[in-house]
Parts: sequence; structure tokens; C-alpha cells
Amino acid sequence: MSTVSEPTQTSPAQDSPAQDSTEQAPAFVESLNPATDASVARFAVDGPAAVDAAVARAHEAAPWWQEQGFAGRRRHLLRWASWMAAHRDEAVDLLHRENGKPRPDATIELLMTLEHLDWAAKHAAKVLADQSHRPGLLLANFSATTSFVPYGVVGVIGPWNYPMYTPSGSIALALAAGNTVVFKPSEHTPAVGDWYVKAFAAANPDAPEGVLSVVHGFGPTGAALAASAVNKVAFTGSTATGRRVMMAAAQNLTPVVMELGGKDAALVAADADVPAAADAIAWGAMGNSGQTCVGVERVYVHRSVRDQLVAELQKALAQVRPGSEDGASYGPMTMPAQVDVVRSHVADALERGGTAVVGGLDSVGERYISPVVILDAPEDSLAVREETFGPTLTVTTVDDMDEAVRLANDSQYGLGGAVFSQARGAELARRLDTGVVSVNSVIGFAGIPSLPLGGTGASGFGRIHGPEGLREFSRTKGIASQRFPLPGVKLLSFGRAKAITALLPRVIGLRHVRRS
Ligand code: NDP
Repeated sequence: MSTVSEPTQTSPAQDSPAQDSTEQAPAFVESLNPATDASVARFAVDGPAAVDAAVARAHEAAPWWQEQGFAGRRRHLLRWASWMAAHRDEAVDLLHRENGKPRPDATIELLMTLEHLDWAAKHAAKVLADQSHRPGLLLANFSATTSFVPYGVVGVIGPWNYPMYTPSGSIALALAAGNTVVFKPSEHTPAVGDWYVKAFAAANPDAPEGVLSVVHGFGPTGAALAASAVNKVAFTGSTATGRRVMMAAAQNLTPVVMELGGKDAALVAADADVPAAADAIAWGAMGNSGQTCVGVERVYVHRSVRDQLVAELQKALAQVRPGSEDGASYGPMTMPAQVDVVRSHVADALERGGTAVVGGLDSVGERYISPVVILDAPEDSLAVREETFGPTLTVTTVDDMDEAVRLANDSQYGLGGAVFSQARGAELARRLDTGVVSVNSVIGFAGIPSLPLGGTGASGFGRIHGPEGLREFSRTKGIASQRFPLPGVKLLSFGRAKAITALLPRVIGLRHVRRS
């Protein structure tokens, strides 16, 4: 396996770059360092024919991968994790250069990727083991088993904000469940995706081509993957693109799992440890330049602790600054177009009555955005309603926690959330209409491999991570086996005895008419 430190790389499809892509489609995808605009890597674009070929190779490799069984797959997946761990400096450097995040954040991303991979490899056998059930009265002579069967080939389409950890939440679980995978990374982070996929082959030279492969390109490459002969699509990205992916997958009735955007709220109750809440919220909102699907974008704080929270946020953010040098708190915006979205949200909130208590419109630079906290922006402002995906936060005062829950839930999104309260954490967490919640912390659920991750509403559906994630990448199959014939009964036969047919109404009466 070659490293990706050279400025130019090509994918395996290089021999036929874009010969099958639509007219005027670029032949190469090139990623740029968001801090310097220096080229990081260049890959030939895979058009529909190259995508179909990759999916065909994945289908060919599927029987081999399934024959490995849970033990064999565990061995291969742990070898892959070990290879990536041994080459961690390469991975961290690439994440830093291509996504822009500081090296410590890149290291955390790699570690979280490996923790989830390790969990999936070690738990798939138990989670996906056959389940036996009682057959019930009608067919007491049967055994009943639910088994979990791999789909075959899973197409994974991933984003750029956590370019290794996020797609790995689908890829590792799909592989552990016995599927082969074709992965399309974001056009902004193709080199990270390429490195991750090639690491599998480097660690497992015995595996045939096609167990895990990568296709490169822009939106049309993702669309081709969604419309291809994959058996399931796992998409992580924006809600708008998710809709397009669902439409493409619908052509073949291909099932999908959708991990989409969010507008996560943190609730701060009167009994919260306010300095600790401010510290966590500051990181949850600004870390990774706010480019985190489960980042904190809104706060609803009880009036009695509002001023203290604002003061603590100001303190916590006083030294927080973006940059690319060592010691920077977070990096540049990875995707240049996102800067305009952040600027428009801040401007709208301030024009409509919000007060900037940290930073302001001037904090939004060309590449870097310093932290912005806006107090009491109207609930219908862009910064409260739309996903900002930048290092900004709205703080809204509420008179009680019922109002906090109501406003937090008044959103098209329902991905994650956080609750800060000494006494009411669990209760408030349950009342948030989201897929995941952290109590007295932010984003904790993402670091616990045994917990499922996913959203509601415009944040998508289905679950990755944890046992639910392993089952998401398995078809459940019910198997009813007749263990022995019941002489004279023959319930499932035209030869059923008349006496049995006559008995059936009595059985209904005895079993289902309630007498109390
Ligand atoms: P996008 O929706 O822009 O892109 C996601 C992926 O889809 C990219 O690989 C992109 O390719 C590809 N794509 C683009 N157009 C199509 C198409 N028509 N058919 C198929 N694939 C297509 O999202 P971002 O990369 O901008 O990611 C940020 C978004 O992801 C945010 O909304 C964030 O909240 C969400 N997200 C959700 C997470 C979750 O777990 N719920 C986790 C992380 C992010 P290309 O880049 O080449 O255009």
C-alpha cells in the first residue's frame, strides 16, 4: 500500500478515468488543504460503469467474506485495526491536512474509529447469533428461530467532517455483519477514505479484492452507487442529499439507513453545575469548527442561571481560537461554501434582536471563524432553525424546563441533545425527541460503541453503532422447522382432520374470550 503523502494519487480506476462519466464531468477529484489550499491528493473520478464494476467485485467477494464466519471476520477486522493503529501518524497527518482539524482532534477521531471497529469485530458473533423462540400453541411441534443474514453488498456514502470515524460507523458494522462494502468518500476528503480502505487490504493480503473498496468522485458518483446493484445504502450527510439518495435507491427498492443533519439543543436546568455545563457546551459547540452533526447549536437555559452560564461561556471561550498551528483549538472551515451559511445565520440572528455575547459578525473570516455566542435570538431566526454547521451557539432564556423541552423539540431535526441537571437529567433526556442524548456531558454517546446512533425526523432513520447498528446491516429471517409431525392434526394441510377443524372455534373461545 502506498502512503498518501504525495500530492497526487489515483484510484484503481485510474486506467479509465471518467470515460463513462457524463459530459463535462471533471475527470479528477482533487482535495485541498483547507488551511493553505495546497493540493493533498488527486483521484480519477469513477463514473457509473466504474461504480458498477466495483459493486460487481464486491458481490464476487461476498461469498468468501461470509465463509470466514464471525471468527474469521473478527480476525481480519482486528488485523485492520492493528495496522491502522501502527500507522497512526500517517492517519493523523492526513486527517489534519485534508480536513483541517488539529492533530489532537485527528488523533481522537482515529481512536474513536478504532474503538468502534474493535467493538464491532468482537460483538458481532453474540449480537447476530441465532435466537430461538417458543413456537406457540398452534405449531407446538415446530422450532422457531430468528437469524441475522448479511445483505450482501452495502454502499456507504460518507461526509467530510469526520471523514474516517463517521463512515466507519457504517463500514465496520456492515463488514462485521458479513457484508462486503463499496465506499464513496466526500469529494473534500477522498484521501482519508482511500487510506482507510487501502489499510484493510494492506492488513489482509489474503482477502480478495472487493471485500472493501472505494470509489471516488462528486455527487454523481454517490448517486451511481445509490442506484447500483448494492443491497443496502448507508448514507451520512445533509438532509437534502439524503432525499436524493433515497430517490436513487428507490429505483431498485434498495433499503437505506439515513444519518442526516442536526440542530442539537443543550438544556441547562436551575440545578445544573453551571461551570461544568459551560465548559462542555463550549467544546460541543465550537470543537471541529462546529462541523459536527451532533454538535451543540442551541442552548435553552433556566432564567435563574442564565447570567452565570453566559459569564462561564465567556470565560471558557476566552482562549479558544481557530488556527492551523499547534495549540489551535480548532481548524479552518473544511468546506469554503459553509462560511457564507454561517455568516448569514449570525447576521440574521443579530439583525432580528439577538445579542452577541461572544464574538459577532466580525468573527466570521474567510477561512477561520472565531466562536460566536448569541443570546436570545428569535426562535424563528436561521441560527435557531437551520443547521449552521459552524462555531456558533444560540442561548435562549426559558422560565422552566417544560418550556426548554418544548422549544428544543420544536425542530425539524432530532439527532442528539444534552441535558445539564443534578436531579432531572434522565427525565429530561427521555423527553427530548432525538435519537441520542448526553446527560451532564455533550456527545458522550458517540464515544460509546455499544450505543446506537441515529436520528428522528429530518435527521434520518435507522441506526449505526452498537447492536442495533449490527442488526441494521443484517436481514432478519424467521425460520420455522417442523421437528416432528403431530399425528392426526395436520393443521397446514388439506388433509386436516374434520375433528380438528371443528375444534378451532372452541380454541378461539377458550384462549381469547376474556371473562373479566
Ligand atoms: P453532503 O450531503 O453534501 O454529502 C455527503 C456525501 O454525499 C458526500 O460523499 C457527497 O459527495 C455525496 N453526494 C452528494 N450528492 C450526492 C447525490 N446526488 N447522490 C449521492 N451522493 C451524493 O454532506 P456533507 O459532506 O456536507 O456533510 C455534512 C452533513 O452531514 C451535515 O448536514 C451533517 O449534519 C451531516 N452529518 C450527519 C452525521 C450523522 O451521523 N447523522 C454525521 C456527520 C455528518 P461530494 O462530497 O462529492 O459532493
